Amino acid sequence: MYRVPRGTMDVLPADQPYWRHVLETAERLCRLYGYQRLDTPLFEDASLFQRSVGAGTDIVEKETYNFQDRSGELLTLRPEGTAPVCRAYLEHGMHALPQPIKLYYIAPCFRYERPQAGRYRQFYQWGYEAIGSMDPALDAEVVEIAWRLYQLLGITDLVVLLNSIGDPQCRPAYLKALVAYYSAHRGSLCRDCGVRLEKNPLRLLDCKEPQDQPLIQGAPRAVDYLCPECRGHHAQVEHYLALLGVPYQMEHRLVRGLDYYTKTVFEVVPRDGGSQNAIGAGGRYDGLIEELGGRPTPGIGFAAGIDRIILNLKRQGLTLRDGSRPQVYVAYLGDRAKDAALRLTAELRAEGLNTLLAFGDRSLRAQLRHANSTGAPYSLILGEDEVQAGEALLRRMEDGEQERVPLTHVAARLSQAVASQPGP
Ligand code: AMP
Repeated sequence: MYRVPRGTMDVLPADQPYWRHVLETAERLCRLYGYQRLDTPLFEDASLFQRSVGAGTDIVEKETYNFQDRSGELLTLRPEGTAPVCRAYLEHGMHALPQPIKLYYIAPCFRYERPQAGRYRQFYQWGYEAIGSMDPALDAEVVEIAWRLYQLLGITDLVVLLNSIGDPQCRPAYLKALVAYYSAHRGSLCRDCGVRLEKNPLRLLDCKEPQDQPLIQGAPRAVDYLCPECRGHHAQVEHYLALLGVPYQMEHRLVRGLDYYTKTVFEVVPRDGGSQNAIGAGGRYDGLIEELGGRPTPGIGFAAGIDRIILNLKRQGLTLRDGSRPQVYVAYLGDRAKDAALRLTAELRAEGLNTLLAFGDRSLRAQLRHANSTGAPYSLILGEDEVQAGEALLRRMEDGEQERVPLTHVAARLSQAVASQPGP
């Protein structure tokens, strides 16, 4: 028996209403804030992610799906959405348009991770990026959208965590303080942190090992080392967030490990779950476009894991019904009636009615049992007598009440009947 590859899943019909609900809400929000959709390929040049996500990061070092195509080109399945958006911004000369450019995507991403609840090897991100403006009001708006999504979806018990990690001006001083602090505790660090201390000290702060947590608590805080420009920016972001009524908590452990991440970083996490279960993460990347070969161009964005959002919705007990159930089921008895049933089904579909036709010439009882299981509120029954009389029996499934309707009137009568039904 074949099974889905480890860390991937089928999205079955019963789960589709959740996906639709989340995606429709996300797209509605994007329109509300003036974001336009951008779709990029499933794979990109491997070097794009090495440059953007960073050659020394876990994602690029251990998690990307790389392959060589038949011409020897080295390609990578998209592990995240920001780099492809920035690549497209540059490739299509979007810097020449009025800024900021606001783009969003809904895209499968691939990371070779250890699968567990909420962590998959293929997962879906909804992300949005605003490129070309340094305005701190844009940071606040980007955080606000993330906050609004969870509110609209009705996910409760989430918090927005916020931090500022400065820029290339002020970060060296902060890193120096951080390294000095950690060097004094070198002996008690977990193994990974020993490496981080050498390679990427900012990442010391998002170590998840219990033994390192007290150290993190006492570590120097990035906000205390901000240069005047970054301090001013951060103060403005806080000012605008307050003005927009978006609640948040400062979280000094929140970092991004790469140089082109600047100033604002934020995450949306379950109140009791910690940042390992982040539902979404975002931040400013004022150095990224330049890193990819463009002129210095600021940018900020956010990405949420759709799979994780749906897990949370289900955990909260939200039930959604499938809106795709048929509106009418067509049953028949005998060959002549089957011909009439096919014709009638085509007619009803042409009128826009979701119609399911019985297949397999089963007994009427079996067909009606099937009709019931589909959730169709009405059935049409055609027997030899009905066909002879040019009629069909319209049966309301809820209570079995039946009426005879001339075949020529069936579509109109049904449209009227389903209009009085409650929505899905
Ligand atoms: P990141 O690009 O790592 O900041 O991820 C952004 C968001 O995508 C996270 O907050 C998660 O909600 C989601 N995400 C990241 N990795 C995975 C994964 N392996 N499985 C499911 N969701 C993920």
